[in-house]
Amino acid sequence: MKGERGGFRPVSRMQLLEGMGEDSYKAKRKPRDPTRCPNCGASFHSGRWTWDAAPEGAHEQLCPACHRIQDRFPAGYVTLAGEYFRGHRDEILRLVKHCEEREKAAHPLQRIMAIEDAAEGVLVTTTDVHLARNIAERVHDACKGSLVFHYSKEDNLLRANWKR
Ligand SMILES: [Zn+2]
Repeated sequence: MKGERGGFRPVSRMQLLEGMGEDSYKAKRKPRDPTRCPNCGASFHSGRWTWDAAPEGAHEQLCPACHRIQDRFPAGYVTLAGEYFRGHRDEILRLVKHCEEREKAAHPLQRIMAIEDAAEGVLVTTTDVHLARNIAERVHDACKGSLVFHYSKEDNLLRANWKR
């Protein structure tokens, strides 16, 4: 596939659940506790990012999700394609956005970066591999079809291709 980086390997859903690597955007820029993201307002406290208000005097640093958005460097790529998709595009994209809203409400780092037209359908990019996996599985559960994951543990990048 064009544009693929080295290190991508096909993986099963089970392997994915066991083997997610560490996200460099989280590991390399471990924030001070407490920290507030000046862009989205998420706060880092007790080792995790939440939507709770940061205490007065919190350190300021971009959260990993805003940092990825700023760098235009997604962690997850979900391709939705096929004739069935094109016929049900609006309702499937509603499902995708609903999935993001639910995840994001509890986990500030789970966000969609963009939904772009691709050759046979659309490409959804995300700030976290877990959201990409959840979106792909949600669509697959609801609409059947075929779903294949490729994962690069070194880069912690997930590519999910769903087609029907
Ligand atoms: Zn942020």
